[in-house]
Amino acid sequence: MKLIDTHAHMDDEKYEGKLDSMIKNYVEEGMVLIINPSYDKASCERTIVLTEKYPMIYGAIGMHPHDAKDADEEFFSYIIEKTRNEKIVAVGEIGLDYYYDYSPRDVQKAVFKRQMEIAQDANLPVIIHCRDSHHDTYELLKTFKGKVKGVMHSYSGSWEMAKLYLDLGYYISFSGPITFKNSRKLPEVAANVPLDRIMIETDSPYLTPVPFRGKTNEPAYVQYVAQRVAQLKGISSEELVIKVIENTKALFTKI
Ligand SMILES: [Zn+2]
Repeated sequence: MKLIDTHAHMDDEKYEGKLDSMIKNYVEEGMVLIINPSYDKASCERTIVLTEKYPMIYGAIGMHPHDAKDADEEFFSYIIEKTRNEKIVAVGEIGLDYYYDYSPRDVQKAVFKRQMEIAQDANLPVIIHCRDSHHDTYELLKTFKGKVKGVMHSYSGSWEMAKLYLDLGYYISFSGPITFKNSRKLPEVAANVPLDRIMIETDSPYLTPVPFRGKTNEPAYVQYVAQRVAQLKGISSEELVIKVIENTKALFTKI
């Protein structure tokens, strides 16, 4: 069966020394591609190295809201230059996180907006991180309607909210939590999102799906996310993954 992971942090230290054998297995097991998003300058640099080394890994560059306080003009110039790299297919992950509030909210908003402008200028899609910040995230994305598209990564909101993002042209991506028994809103969202706007991911090394919850996550486990989403859509996992591959290529047009 083919597989795809639209969001995995393979540059995480947890995979150090293991990546060669992991990627070799993935090639044999049918993994088509992995998108590796960044969260700060060092992870952008590591991501670019991975994209050069492994054909199946594509990258996104950007400053996560947690680290927004570290974004300066030098960083913005750096990512503007790297948007021209042929295997950098998006700006991300960017957005707002009001759950942890690791950076002041006004700084998060300013850095988010600036990176949306960079994505627009580079004609690249965005990968959005949004936690407990749906109102402000939506308001900002709305100002770029028709100019920037993207994916709501590891979506955690309601179906009502998802409809608004779909109207802006965004894709909705599901990860491990869709497999959790206590997941209440997500099954409804997955059942309702049109097939041509769905993505799946692991967000490795975080958010490990059932039945491996508690262990380090890895892209191979995306099959459990695929199974659950496919079940909610009433189709086979194979059909779902084929659709997600199409969707991924439709949004990330440099792939
Ligand atoms: Zn992530």
